[in-house]
Amino acid sequence: MTIAHFAFDNSYARELEGFYVPWKGAEVPAPKMIRFNAALAQELGLDPVALDSDEGAAIFAGHTAPEGAAQLAMAYAGHQFGGFSPQLGDGRALLLGEVIDTHGQRRDIHLKGSGRTPFSRGGDGKAVLGPVLREYIIGEAMHALGVPTTRALAAVTTGEKILRQQGPEPGAVLARVASSHLRVGTFQFFAARGETDRLRQLADYAIARHYPQLEGRPDRYLGLLAAVRDRQAALIASWMHLGFVHGVMNTDNMTISGETIDYGPCAFIDGYDPAAVFSSIDSHGRYAYGNQPKIAQWNLARLAETLLDLINPDDSDDAVARASEVINFFPLAYERAWLKGLRAKLGLARAEDGDRELGEALLAAMAAQAADFTRTFRSLSAMASGDADRLRAEFADPAAIAPWLERYRARLALETGQAGDRAAAMDRVNPVYIPRNHMVEAALQSATSGDLAPFERLVGVLADPFTERPGLEVFALGAPTDFGPYTTYCGT
Ligand code: AMP
Ligand code: MG
Repeated sequence: MTIAHFAFDNSYARELEGFYVPWKGAEVPAPKMIRFNAALAQELGLDPVALDSDEGAAIFAGHTAPEGAAQLAMAYAGHQFGGFSPQLGDGRALLLGEVIDTHGQRRDIHLKGSGRTPFSRGGDGKAVLGPVLREYIIGEAMHALGVPTTRALAAVTTGEKILRQQGPEPGAVLARVASSHLRVGTFQFFAARGETDRLRQLADYAIARHYPQLEGRPDRYLGLLAAVRDRQAALIASWMHLGFVHGVMNTDNMTISGETIDYGPCAFIDGYDPAAVFSSIDSHGRYAYGNQPKIAQWNLARLAETLLDLINPDDSDDAVARASEVINFFPLAYERAWLKGLRAKLGLARAEDGDRELGEALLAAMAAQAADFTRTFRSLSAMASGDADRLRAEFADPAAIAPWLERYRARLALETGQAGDRAAAMDRVNPVYIPRNHMVEAALQSATSGDLAPFERLVGVLADPFTERPGLEVFALGAPTDFGPYTTYCGT
């Protein structure tokens, strides 16, 4: 008998039969709530008190289904590190159902780690506590940083021990929320099977759900491609402006909505290095920080390929020409989004020629000395109000940044607003606190040995990343030198 009520409205299950397998979560011995996101629950129209409970833990572990759920595993394909897998799908995840949130937005509630499905291939369908909490920390931090992202609703442990490379680890499930789980790979799944009718059905569903302004238009499939391009261009620009490396930009991890998804091997850069790679399996640096815009375009070209038959069923040359035009515009769409973000970071309200070069010169100076990405940008607001010491302190050789400082001062002289307002605006886009790799690791290590306090504290600090607060200095520091190079794992 369940008391927690979900006002499910399951459009995917209802409208896209054949695009998924109805499924159930695995029963687990002892579901336990580790972290519940009450504010997000409220936004979803859920009862936070009823759900922050043993009953909620059982639901979010996938152990019991709430009334009205339409649990299903979605089918999708994907290019992983450039190689195509025609069948991936939810191998350790389930869509619990969809709700309409308090803003009228449709949101998926999805469980990651809820057991094997028909898409599990050789995997165990499970997740373990460290990676689940990592996705919790970073997803919520990205949201607070203003980046479109999936959210973390709950982290639960299951009472199982799951065998991983390092030995047995506590089993866990993440309940996450997304504006949908449609991916480039969802389109690829049906395109690879030559199922044009299903593709059209999927594209119409995606348009209705994410780009309703295109509904009914004769050129809507080309419009869909352009709309996804623009959302992804803006998303990647926002990653770049935070020093975020996603780490596994496979086409199955690129959403149609433009939200960041799948916080596996991701990490934030400390010392700036455009070639930064953290993932243990990305040995060729395909998903390096500086490659992310190019990879996004490559992924969008894969989406374009799936849409050709819809764009012009009668003339494939014409379809290719039109789709190529949309995809070839990506670099410009990205550049515009990036430049807009750059001006905000530098406190430039006007647009002047040479702003891009000014930003690039700063990045080059930072790269030359591995200056801390986050701290350097944050220090610019002090600089904009006349104090350059904080900025200089980020450079091992402060003399090397002197020419840039002069250039920046000259550029600021063209601005008309008040210095104080400018500094405040800059502090709203250049965070003080990001999920520092060493802090994340320390929090996860404590959590897996039973002490959740550092995890809770970190989540609390990162909920307000732009406001510098006394007592939190340690959260604004780069990694200590003995932390060494950082390696991340796909963490399943
Ligand atoms: P990801 O790297 O999380 O984007 O996952 C890529 C694919 O591998 C998806 O189809 C997942 O469902 C599948 N997968 C990852 N880990 C597991 C696991 N432990 N058991 C089953 N399938 C998994
Ligand atoms: Mg994935």
